[in-house]
Amino acid sequence: METAIYVRVSTEEQAQEGFSIRAQEQKLKDYVRIKDWSIYKIYADEGISGKDITGRPAVKEMITDIKAGYVKNVLVFKIDRLTRSTADLIYLVDLFNANDCEFNSLMESIDTQTASGRMFIKIIGIFAEFERENIIERTRVGVERKVKEGYSLCTSSASFGYDRVKGQKIQTVNPAEAEVVRDIFGMFVDNGLTLTDIARRLNLRGISTKQGKTWASGKVRRVLANCNYVGDVRHHMNDSRHKREYDGLHEAIIPQELFDAANGILEENKKVGITKPPNDDKYFAGFLVCAKCGYKLKTYESRKKLKTKIQITVGYVCRNHTLGTCTVGSMSHKKVEAAFEEYISEIADFDAVDTRSLAEEEKAKHDNSEAISSLENKLKNLETRERETLERYVRNEIDFEDYRQMKDLVASDKQVLGAELERLKAAQNPVASKPQEIALNFKKNWDGLSNPERRAFLKQFVERIVIESVKTKCDYFGQVKIREVKWRM
Ligand SMILES: [Zn+2]
Repeated sequence: METAIYVRVSTEEQAQEGFSIRAQEQKLKDYVRIKDWSIYKIYADEGISGKDITGRPAVKEMITDIKAGYVKNVLVFKIDRLTRSTADLIYLVDLFNANDCEFNSLMESIDTQTASGRMFIKIIGIFAEFERENIIERTRVGVERKVKEGYSLCTSSASFGYDRVKGQKIQTVNPAEAEVVRDIFGMFVDNGLTLTDIARRLNLRGISTKQGKTWASGKVRRVLANCNYVGDVRHHMNDSRHKREYDGLHEAIIPQELFDAANGILEENKKVGITKPPNDDKYFAGFLVCAKCGYKLKTYESRKKLKTKIQITVGYVCRNHTLGTCTVGSMSHKKVEAAFEEYISEIADFDAVDTRSLAEEEKAKHDNSEAISSLENKLKNLETRERETLERYVRNEIDFEDYRQMKDLVASDKQVLGAELERLKAAQNPVASKPQEIALNFKKNWDGLSNPERRAFLKQFVERIVIESVKTKCDYFGQVKIREVKWRM
């Protein structure tokens, strides 16, 4: 086990026999030999007090090596050699735990290979947990105060209509975007356009959102409901119970009356209840995803007056098609049903999937597990970094802006690693036989099911169906093709 020996003496202790650096070192070296460990390095802070760990180059170096994974065990003569500060000790033990590093102290007989040693570490761990929660609580209070003082938090970016210059705490008006915001409120309140209509117009004019994306009804609604535009700031906006709004320090774009009018209409719309319960005749509702743009398909109903009756066609259409940003058009329920039946019959007919040898499969699995554990380690390190950043902010070593930026950086790293991890983990479980089982199950039962039963069946086994309509020259309406069915398992 790669062991770091840490020794320290203060100036006053130098003279005392038994406490000299050499004496400590010798005893620890002997102990390492008895335990059959190997010494990675001896870290020595000479003539430095143990009040806390700041200003101790050897401790700093050791921490760096632990984080880098070189050191798997730390051995000291006595805990007070490492530090006399409880906060430091908690921090260090927490760091050891996070990096799979053992901790041993000779005088206190703390040996993580013994039950009492592990107990000690556990107790320290509980303190660490408590301390962390305290820090989070203190930060929460700090954030709350910032909002009350009128600073906009905007953890990801400023709202559409505003800019936030780096290092500047108050957002400034972006004149071009502010004009669009005024226009949105105008179209909604004065012209009575629907959210979808507004989104379509913005897209047609080539205006994109703050993130460079196209507009959709939900995004328009968020603009209309954003109190930033009347000069307020908000906190806990996604949590109705803790939601708070305060007077902001930035400039308003929209007069209060217009804002209130818009939100009155939004509130009214909510009462009318635009969302209809899923229709049994359209039992694929909610499952279909556009293969081109990745958005969900919504249902439609068209009525055609024939000589003796009214013919109603039900079907699905890509949300973005309505907004004018996707070319995948409408498809009737009948066609989707036929395509789905074809898809499940194709999977169910395909047998003898397992052409790969067992050894090969085992090997692939193993290869993955190494990558997985490396990713998991990286994620763990990121979590440590996240915590450290928070602690530094609480200790006032960095200001809020730096904290926010560092936090965003770590968060985006975490997201990337997390997604990769999920992908690897999913690939590790050989699921080849499972979709076939489900498909077979579908094939056997499908014909005998009523529409509501089919919907229930889909709900149980299907997460989403990726679909598109391909137009060929001779077929005006296009052919519905299922690209992929994501099974629930
Ligand atoms: Zn689409």
